[in-house]
Amino acid sequence: MLFKYCVECGHKVEDIRLGDDDCKICPFCKKIYGRNPLPVVEVLVVNEFNEILLLKQNYISEDKWTVVSGYMVEGETIEEAVAREVKEETGQIVHKCQYISSYYFEPKQLIMIGFIAYVNKSEFADSNEVDDLKWYKLNEVESVIARENNCSGMHFDRCKQFL
Ligand SMILES: [Zn+2]
Repeated sequence: MLFKYCVECGHKVEDIRLGDDDCKICPFCKKIYGRNPLPVVEVLVVNEFNEILLLKQNYISEDKWTVVSGYMVEGETIEEAVAREVKEETGQIVHKCQYISSYYFEPKQLIMIGFIAYVNKSEFADSNEVDDLKWYKLNEVESVIARENNCSGMHFDRCKQFL
């Protein structure tokens, strides 16, 4: 996350080099800001029939579908974040998850932590974050998954060998 203004006192922050790191410093209160990305979980959900669960979120794309994703919350492990986001956005219960790969998402300075989550197909939850949910056969995913300005497609590619 790149800060432009000090969150403590509102002054414009300035560049400073600390060791090997480019940081920002508030010239007034001397608070230091690192250039740390926000961690986000990126989760491909698969059921016992090897179907892939994709989400439609109209604010992301009008016609493409994405995998589950969400910001981590203070105090939880990455695995807990995976299970929580999958339950919140889809209603599915994760019984096993597996780390696959990570991706850096430059536009928003996010580190996307990519998992496969295994669930038993069950009823969808009503989430106001999600406009639609659908199970896709493996060979249907390519034509609908979001690749533009989104890590879903890249994550699906990395997951394929495990499906
Ligand atoms: Zn300050």
